[in-house]
Amino acid sequence: MTASEKLIDHLHLGSQSAAVIHDPSNIFYLTEGYSGEGLVYISAKKRVIITDFRYTEQAEKQAPDFRTVMTDKDNPHNRRLAELCREDGITELRFESNYLSVDTFESLRTAVGEEVSYVPLKYAPQALRQIKTPAETVTMRKAAQITSEAFDAILGKIRPGMTEKELQIELDFTMYRLGAEALAFDTIIASGENGSLCHAIPGQRRLEKGDMITMDFGAKVGGYCSDMTRTVALGQPSPEMLKVYNTVLRAQTMCKAALAAGKNCFDIDKLARDYIDSQGYAGRFGHGLGHCVGIDIHEDPRLSPSCHETLKAGMVITVEPGVYIPGLGGVRIEDTCLVKENGCESLTTAPRELVIL
Ligand code: ZN
Ligand code: ZN
Repeated sequence: MTASEKLIDHLHLGSQSAAVIHDPSNIFYLTEGYSGEGLVYISAKKRVIITDFRYTEQAEKQAPDFRTVMTDKDNPHNRRLAELCREDGITELRFESNYLSVDTFESLRTAVGEEVSYVPLKYAPQALRQIKTPAETVTMRKAAQITSEAFDAILGKIRPGMTEKELQIELDFTMYRLGAEALAFDTIIASGENGSLCHAIPGQRRLEKGDMITMDFGAKVGGYCSDMTRTVALGQPSPEMLKVYNTVLRAQTMCKAALAAGKNCFDIDKLARDYIDSQGYAGRFGHGLGHCVGIDIHEDPRLSPSCHETLKAGMVITVEPGVYIPGLGGVRIEDTCLVKENGCESLTTAPRELVIL
């Protein structure tokens, strides 16, 4: 079943209903590959990409199962959409109320007409995206592999005196050289006391002996992201930071071992949180344990104290506990994992034992 067929099935779209998609990640998913601008119309009768001259050839190549309709000066996107709705006799149009601005929605409604009823899609495409197909899994494994290999390659390049920014550039370049088509997100490098900043922006701080260095990075391959974090030591770390490292590693190992279909997101998060608290770091693990990954770097469900969803086989989710101590530093270890019936497969294959450079 194609992704667009899954959507029709999931929504029980009747012959007089259609869906219009604006979110680029949903468009990529539902067309199985179109990455240009425009919008997508899906009904029981038609699969159409509405776009302008710049993207028509690309759309035909990337989404051969979809018809491409070109806009022009007199026929902008919404007029083309209205034509399709008329041809199909549509009386109900599903749309992404979470994504469209009020202005965009108003102009859409003006073009298509007041007689049509407008029903929110309520994250239906995102719900389908949660479960990865075998083909998506193959792509994500490749993205994770490049990320793991980049970590291996970067270890030989970390030197005292280089700045965080220089390390970021090396790491990004290495991912591209290994086959990344893009970066999944802006690489985070946090060294020494900057390590307590979970989302540190790499700056001009120079690496020193005794630093712990946290690197959070990911490659994008075939439109899918990977996400991994490793903290390494430049020279022998302090006993205090060693204890932090071992606590985070133990928490991560426990959670990966517990990850499986049927488990509750809240419970997995609690496992890490309780253990970290018990080691004397209560309040030092201030973010969720993980998030799903796919076309977007952050997808639902999340491993967090506020998520009570059940994990399903085929979800790809990160496990990333961390401990952050202002003035001292921080440690985070993150793997991207594929949830299976009886456990999980870590798509990230890089070693997790502390590397002392
Ligand atoms: Zn990350
Ligand atoms: Zn992450």
